[in-house]
Amino acid sequence: MSRLELSRVSAFYGDAQALFDIDLVVEPGEIVAIIGSNGAGKTTVLRTISGLVRPREGSLQYDGRDLASTHPWSVVSHGIAHVPEGRRLFRDMSVQENLMMGAYHRNNAADGKVDLDRVYTLFPRLAERRDQLAGTMSGGEQQMAAIGRALMARPRLLLLDEPSLGLAPKIIETVFKTIREINSEGVGIVLVEQSAQLALETAQRAYLMENGRIVKTGSASDLMNDDAVREAYLGL
Ligand code: ATP
Repeated sequence: MSRLELSRVSAFYGDAQALFDIDLVVEPGEIVAIIGSNGAGKTTVLRTISGLVRPREGSLQYDGRDLASTHPWSVVSHGIAHVPEGRRLFRDMSVQENLMMGAYHRNNAADGKVDLDRVYTLFPRLAERRDQLAGTMSGGEQQMAAIGRALMARPRLLLLDEPSLGLAPKIIETVFKTIREINSEGVGIVLVEQSAQLALETAQRAYLMENGRIVKTGSASDLMNDDAVREAYLGL
C-alpha cells in the first residue's frame, strides 16, 4: 500500500546542508505533521518528497517504489501532490482553469468532470467563484484553490506547506475542516505548519525538526504534552 518512507535522508542547497539523516514514515491514510521554527528544514522535506530537491544520501520510498530517482513531474502520477507555500496559482487564469491544470497528466475529460465536482463539493466557495481570476481571490480562497488543484490529480498523499499562512482564524477553521474531510476519504497528508498548536490538533503523529534534523517524534498528543514542545512551540 501507499506508505512513504524516508530513511537517513540528507539534502543540500549547494554546499549548505539543509537535511541531516531524516527518518520519516507516513502510513497510508495518516495525517503526519512536521513542526519546527523558521529554517528548520520542513519545506525542504516536502521538496525532497516531491522531487524538487534531490537527496544526496539515504532512501526515499513510496508504495515500494524508489522515489529518489523519479522526475518531479512524474511524482504526481505516482499519487503524490504538493501544495507549496504561497500557493503558486496562475493568477491570470480563472479558478476553474487553475483546477483543470491539476489534472493535466490525465486526459480523460469525464474523470476531470467528476474530480471537479468533488472539489466544488468540498469547497463550495470555489464553485461560486469558478470564473473569477485566481489572482483576485482572497488569501483563503487561493489556499482552497491550491488544495483543490492538487486534489484534481487524485493523490493518495497530499503535501501541504503552511496552509494557514496569512489567513484569518475563521478561514483557517474552514480550510482545516476540509483537510480533515479529505483525509477521512483515505488521503494521507503531510502537514507542515508554523502553528504547532494547529498542526498537533490536526495530525495523528508528528515530527519536530530543529536545524535540519528530526529531534522528536511521537503521537500528536505525546508531543502536545511534551514539556520542551509546550514551552518552545506552544507558548505554554
Ligand atoms: P520556513 O518555515 O521559514 O519556511 P522551513 O523549516 O520550511 O522554514 P526550509 O525552508 O526547509 O525551512 O529551509 C531549511 C534551510 O535551507 C534554511 O537554512 C534555508 O535558509 C535553506 N534554504 C531553503 N531554500 C533554499 C534555497 N533555495 N537555496 C539555499 N538555501 C535554502
